[in-house]
Amino acid sequence: MARKKNDNYVDLKTQPIPEGQHLLEVDDLKMYFHTEDGIVHAVDGVSYTLDRGETLGVVGESGSGKSVTAMTIMGLISMPPGKIEGGRVMYRGHNLLEMSEEEMQHVRGNDIAMIFQDPMTSLNPVYKIGRQVSEGLRLHRGYTKQQAHERAIELLDLVGIPEPEKRVDQYPHQFSGGMRQRVMIAMALACDPDVLIADEPTTALDVTIQAQIVELMQEMQQKNGNAIIMITHDLGVVADMADKIMVMYAGHPAEFGTADEIFYNSRHPYTWGLIRSIPEQAIDEKKPLTPIHGNPPSLVNLPKGCAFAPRCPYATERCHAERPQKWTGASGHYSMCHYADDDEFVGKYAPDTSRSRGTVPSAIPAADESKGGEA
Ligand code: SF4
Repeated sequence: MARKKNDNYVDLKTQPIPEGQHLLEVDDLKMYFHTEDGIVHAVDGVSYTLDRGETLGVVGESGSGKSVTAMTIMGLISMPPGKIEGGRVMYRGHNLLEMSEEEMQHVRGNDIAMIFQDPMTSLNPVYKIGRQVSEGLRLHRGYTKQQAHERAIELLDLVGIPEPEKRVDQYPHQFSGGMRQRVMIAMALACDPDVLIADEPTTALDVTIQAQIVELMQEMQQKNGNAIIMITHDLGVVADMADKIMVMYAGHPAEFGTADEIFYNSRHPYTWGLIRSIPEQAIDEKKPLTPIHGNPPSLVNLPKGCAFAPRCPYATERCHAERPQKWTGASGHYSMCHYADDDEFVGKYAPDTSRSRGTVPSAIPAADESKGGEA
């Protein structure tokens, strides 16, 4: 690929998506860490597609490979110890895994941007907010210092930060948690990325602010038409906002499908466990919350058969002995369970989701936090 870091540079996001392809296609991606203790199968066979204006929810417990998959796509994994073992990441027809570091520097922040989990560690405490928000504009767009400063004020205003002219010259410690997360969103949106990856952007925030941040990302998406990948351990967070959902377990995709398929026609017991862990779902079923017992396996010593077998209440001898093959249903829906095609099994054990989905409290007005400014 002939793309250079100079005037000849071509924004990938301005190039047409080749016919028959998607904006982003992750195809059987495998990335392992080679450590002294053995090979860590951090990302093992992840596949999904994403188009403009769509939101993909990536859901799973800590250590399931959600964030590592995103960082592999962004080229943020150190190689070694990481190593790409297979697969492709096609963005507008270009394989990101084949790009040089210089080319990926153009993609990161410009074509694909990421909002990290913890804004306090992701923002640099010794630089003013304005400088951090405008860094991408100077790097990718060639803005002058003055132009970048003015645009930083506009972006802070856009994400609901009051008095942006004053705030732009303040430091991260002068912002509250919710405000810092808004700054992270402003930074990520600065160059109008095609794909916005949000890695648990609301984990450190209280529930009212969580709803505001989710609403803000959706508003931005409606304006800009960008795609969003929302990484979370809480299926309830993506219940209302995701078009598609990928459920991950132990570095593997357990199930992928449209949000309706995952909530109303799920074909994997791990997804059922996550659904039963949503408080609103438990209320609907009028049952106590049902935890998934046990812990995820070591990614160095995965079970011989299905990785979920030691925790699966429906595991059989076959589950412990054989690794499940992919079951594929309609419109790209897939599940990695031996019994995904067994309607009787699914009908007997799947949760009753006929009444409603779990929801985030999306109707909470964005008021209090934007008035604040305390650290
Ligand atoms: Fe459970 Fe067996 Fe399906 Fe794995 S393959 S999820 S152990 S039923």
